[in-house]
Amino acid sequence: MQYISTRGQAPAQSFSDILLGGLAPDGGLYLPESYPQVAGKLEEWRGLSYAELTFEILSLYITDIPPADIRAICDATYTAQTYRWCRPGRNAADIVPLTSLEADFHLLELSNGPTLAFKDMAMQLLGNLFEYVLEQRGETLNILGATSGDTGSAAEYAMRGKHRVRVFMLSPEGRMSAFQRAQMYSLDEPNIFNIAVRGMFDDAQDIVKAVSNDAAFKARYKIGAVNSINWARVMAQVVYYFKGYFAATRTNDEEVAFSVPSGNFGNICAGHIARRMGLPIRRLVLATNENDVLDEFFKSGVYRPRSSAETKVTSSPSMDISKASNFERFVFDLVGRDAGKLCALWQSVDVGGAFDLRGSAEFSRLAGFAIVSGRSTHADRLATIREVWQRHQVMIDTHTADGLKVAREHRLPGLPMIVLETAQAAKFAETIREALGREPVRPKELENIEELPQHVAVMDADVGAVKAFIAAHCG
Ligand SMILES: *Cc1c(COP(=O)(O)O)cnc(C)c1O
Repeated sequence: MQYISTRGQAPAQSFSDILLGGLAPDGGLYLPESYPQVAGKLEEWRGLSYAELTFEILSLYITDIPPADIRAICDATYTAQTYRWCRPGRNAADIVPLTSLEADFHLLELSNGPTLAFKDMAMQLLGNLFEYVLEQRGETLNILGATSGDTGSAAEYAMRGKHRVRVFMLSPEGRMSAFQRAQMYSLDEPNIFNIAVRGMFDDAQDIVKAVSNDAAFKARYKIGAVNSINWARVMAQVVYYFKGYFAATRTNDEEVAFSVPSGNFGNICAGHIARRMGLPIRRLVLATNENDVLDEFFKSGVYRPRSSAETKVTSSPSMDISKASNFERFVFDLVGRDAGKLCALWQSVDVGGAFDLRGSAEFSRLAGFAIVSGRSTHADRLATIREVWQRHQVMIDTHTADGLKVAREHRLPGLPMIVLETAQAAKFAETIREALGREPVRPKELENIEELPQHVAVMDADVGAVKAFIAAHCG
């Protein structure tokens, strides 16, 4: 299997060659040259464990790592021990248990990993793949990132204790919840470095950009990233669409719908790919919060990314995005994998701030991709969290509430709807208190996490200071 760039100007590469990098050299995103067709394998795959299913799917996309090694990585990644933070009564060995709220209406629990958000599903695999490939090549990598919560902690929990990898994670001092701070700063592995910057998230982000733009420093200290455009993350996410399908159906003739709380379009991109591989998904439901760039596109055919200043701060913060970094992968398929057309569309975003498909052949093709969309507001989240708690005694988080609200608007009679649960309520205590007047349920083991000793270096939002810190810790 070879990987090609959506912009069409970079040489095709194998999996291990694109694993550690970010964008392709031509500025595009990598995608497999074709999607393997697996409709004939569903029967055989239906009874597999999560790790076995992951192995089957990964083997189609990774052809430059020996199968026995891929299998060992899958077995080490998807264990009941790592995904043990599930609801009482659920089987952790399912990795992504299905909770039925009513007939043909389910939650797929993707947030039972160490940071209680679905980013663990892919990031844990990435940690093991990175360690393996770096070992093979005798290289090291220093991951530099900025976080306002979910991604940074998922990266740290995935890379903790890994050989040949260090993580330098910048966060805005005092801006994360006490729980999020405790989650990240309580790690004391020698390869994890938390840096709290006196400033806002954007200041932290700007420092990461400045360091990454210093080519000499970047090369000398082997600086890398684990951002959401990484192909391996999307690939890992394809697996749970299959697992969720098997859990919600009895035969492979049945169709389902998935509802996906969306930000950077990574999660739903994996659903799109699962469908292209032959999984019988009748429709994908894309849910946004008040940051509704993607809802606008699927309703109107106009894609108009916003500036970060226009991005609203909401109570489902992991969906507060202004432009969807994985969206380009979907558009590449939408334009029939014509890199020239794709480049022209992104050109019009660069020049005029948007592209507009209305009246084009692509717009008529869009319906065939069967993605419908909707948006949700803070008031919707409160009402949905309340309703699900009162009717089903199930507590959901704010992002899952967005997905559930929009899912209800797009149900079809007799078609099972699977809402992806992307985080646990425990992470968003403030909104849970507002909705329910009580504290969120928290996994027992994490009850006193705020009292653990914390390890964090605090510094000014200064590029030089961060560089000096990295240099001093990369002996
Ligand atoms: C990252 C995240 C999302 C959005 O996922 P994308 O892949 O960026 O679309 C939704 N919910 C939670 C809890 C997240 O952490």
